[in-house]
Amino acid sequence: MAELPQKAGVVVIGGGVIGCSIAYHLTKAGFEDVVLLERQQLTSGTTWHAAGLVGQLRTSINMTKLAKYTSELYRGLEDETGQATGYRQSGSISIAATGERFEELKRSASMAKVFDLEVNVVSVEEIAERYPLIYTDDLFGGIHIPSDGYANAVDITQALAKGARNRGAKVLQDTKVEEIVRDGKRVIGVRTAKGDIEADHVVIAGGMWSRDLAASIGVNVPLHACEHYYVLFESVEGLHPELPVLRDYDACTYYKYDAGKLLVGAFEPSAKPWGMDGIPEDFCFDEIAGDFDHFEPVLHDAMARLPALQDAGIQKFFCGPESFTPDVRYHIGKVPEVDNCWVSAGLNSIGLQSAGGIGKVMTEWMRAGHPPADLWEVDVRRNMPFQGNRKYLQERVSESLGLLYATHWPFRQYETARGVRKSPIHDRLVAAGACHGEAFGWERPNWYAPEGVEASYEYSYGRQNWFEHSAAEHRAVRENVALFDQSSFAKFRLEGPAALAVINNVSANDMDVRPGRLVYTQWLNERGGIEADLTVTRLSDDAFLVITAAETETRDFHWLQAHIPAGANCVLTNVTSSMGVISIMGPNSRDLLQSLTPADMSHKAFPFATSQEIELGYAIVRASRITFVGELGWELYVPSEFMQGVYDEIVAAGSAFGLAHAGYHALNSLRMEKGYRHWSHDITDEDSPLEAGLGFTVKFDKPDGFIGRDALLKQQEEGLQRRLLQFKLSDPEPLLYHNEPIWRDDEIVGHITSGAYGHTLGGCIGLGYVHTTAGAGDADVLSGTYEIEVACERFAAEASLAPMYDPGNQKIRR
Ligand SMILES: Cc1cc2nc3c(=O)[nH]c(=O)nc-3n(C[C@H](O)[C@H](O)[C@H](O)COP(=O)(O)OP(=O)(O)OC[C@H]3O[C@@H](n4cnc5c(N)ncnc54)[C@H](O)[C@@H]3O)c2cc1C
Repeated sequence: MAELPQKAGVVVIGGGVIGCSIAYHLTKAGFEDVVLLERQQLTSGTTWHAAGLVGQLRTSINMTKLAKYTSELYRGLEDETGQATGYRQSGSISIAATGERFEELKRSASMAKVFDLEVNVVSVEEIAERYPLIYTDDLFGGIHIPSDGYANAVDITQALAKGARNRGAKVLQDTKVEEIVRDGKRVIGVRTAKGDIEADHVVIAGGMWSRDLAASIGVNVPLHACEHYYVLFESVEGLHPELPVLRDYDACTYYKYDAGKLLVGAFEPSAKPWGMDGIPEDFCFDEIAGDFDHFEPVLHDAMARLPALQDAGIQKFFCGPESFTPDVRYHIGKVPEVDNCWVSAGLNSIGLQSAGGIGKVMTEWMRAGHPPADLWEVDVRRNMPFQGNRKYLQERVSESLGLLYATHWPFRQYETARGVRKSPIHDRLVAAGACHGEAFGWERPNWYAPEGVEASYEYSYGRQNWFEHSAAEHRAVRENVALFDQSSFAKFRLEGPAALAVINNVSANDMDVRPGRLVYTQWLNERGGIEADLTVTRLSDDAFLVITAAETETRDFHWLQAHIPAGANCVLTNVTSSMGVISIMGPNSRDLLQSLTPADMSHKAFPFATSQEIELGYAIVRASRITFVGELGWELYVPSEFMQGVYDEIVAAGSAFGLAHAGYHALNSLRMEKGYRHWSHDITDEDSPLEAGLGFTVKFDKPDGFIGRDALLKQQEEGLQRRLLQFKLSDPEPLLYHNEPIWRDDEIVGHITSGAYGHTLGGCIGLGYVHTTAGAGDADVLSGTYEIEVACERFAAEASLAPMYDPGNQKIRR
């Protein structure tokens, strides 16, 4: 066995499939001095008992790309390393036992076209032909993915480790990392019983141990183990090795041929968290006793689907632990809390099929210092500190596991660990009929149920039960006045003599404005990609208030903090919890607010994009004239303890104006009509403001420049190769969510990044980038016939570069 080195370029902690894939890819990319440390033996954590499915179709485009790469890698791994992997391209079939599930499968088949993954919609007859063992009378159809397969997880891991060793990596087993060593904010190495290793980078790939290991250095990696089950049946009549993998999502089960036996695994709706008091120190290739009664209902359904199981023997009832995360997405990337530390953990039972892609993107990220593509949905920076809370995790992961196979309903809300973060006026909003959704722990009103209507969701891929109620809220904003609770906004203060220089360097727009001005800006990376999309209010000469989305609280705070030069005289503080936000929006918002405050709310005294402290009720609140709905309106920043009083005053005065309450579904519909971009959907760190049509926010001529300026200038000179367009479907019936392919003249040129029904425009609205020839003019981009594909059917769409609603901004600036 290799000696423990004193120094390393990269130390990878964990010898499961994830750690080994990272070591494999690092060495492949030419990283030197790669050391992998495993506390026991390779694969002895979760990896050894993976069922072996290597599927590719995920619920988003980027995740599918990563899984697709994994399959491609595994196909050639045995030839490359000489280590058998058990990889077999069996193909897979997913079946739908409900019409809605069939719609979901067809929508994913459409999405797969965007990146050339062959996914064929198949009839019930074809399913019966390809998988004769199952009962098909209740099916609606399914999809067949010819390039899916399965592999032996232990052999794949050993092959990756061998590939890494062949290129110089040191793989050390029986070497537990006792401590990750820090020097101030920098991670500088690891401590083991056999000695210390100094390292430039440390990667935590310790599976279910990762949360506690990370927490020991103040890093938040929210995950928790759950019991995960499968059963091996022997003597199954009709079983043969040519069968594809079968997924019966509606019965939470999958079926895989396994060396003459049939493996039936499950993602039951209510899982059992495991390891509540920590993972046993001596855990090594261990199994959990398991609870047969818990698994029994799944088996019952499986026997109905595959009747031959009734006469087959159970060779093994297996239960092992796997880590799950609060949003069923894994955690990768550079951690924000300390320097030189990375994580790849919380694989939610898709670790084998994700490992190749993770190893590849982690390596590219480490080499370049930034993610190689938009990986936000799995980026560790999306996590909020509270999500490390064990009670929260234990409750939430019991739901996470089942969500892998549950219908991915649009707007589906979590049912566990609710009521975690509440606005001070939460209970009043419930009384007003709010149906809350959960976002990043926050309870947020998504829509309001009128009297006599239950404030709860009835899910579907079509118009859901809230559609008309939300439409009424939308109209109230367009035609009169409505109140939104947007307390979940993240809020930071940057203060000190150096604050202006810092914020101006980070922002593409000009922050050197007079106090009281509010500026909409993007923060860019060196490549010109959009790292953040937010507003900054200059409070005084040396104080700024940053308002950003709840989703990016951790990410944006750390981005700004990381760009405060050492010794710069300014302080950044997260003040999210100190203020709630009530937004009053609509053409009558001025009249309503004017009735409540002695401040002059006229256009002259209070122009667009300005902010003032005003008296309202007994409180002093910060009123900012800005909008995300495309109407006249103000966001009111109210100290938390004054929120209830201010709300009561507004509602009391509002009755004379017909004030409505409006929720996030209406907000989304309104912003889509106005073409307002949403970070993480329409704009990401891969998209530049020029491509996104946000060039008006970029101030190239600022005296000291800004991060990303050179990249934007280059892009401008070379001409844009993609542009963000707004689409409206001509047929008012179909609904867009996101990821639908965009066709122009019979060619796929992009996909929808976000979609919502536009109640004023009278049809579904989508935003999406289309590829163009470099520097193509507006007329070129808009030429041709556009169509959007929804569930394998194409619908005519009108395309526009300017917002279809109020392109001249007359509604806002009056
Ligand atoms: C029943 C079951 C079926 C599954 N089926 C599939 C499937 O079909 N397809 C699929 O894609 N996925 C499947 N999975 C999931 C898959 O097995 C996991 O996602 C994957 O193995 C996780 O790999 P990992 O490397 O993150 O974790 P692990 O395999 O647990 O590796 C982490 C390693 O880190 C080591 N370690 C921890 N702390 C330290 C330390 N301080 N020092 C040194 N070493 C340390 C541990 O000993 C461990 O070996 C299944 C899981 C289960 C439980």
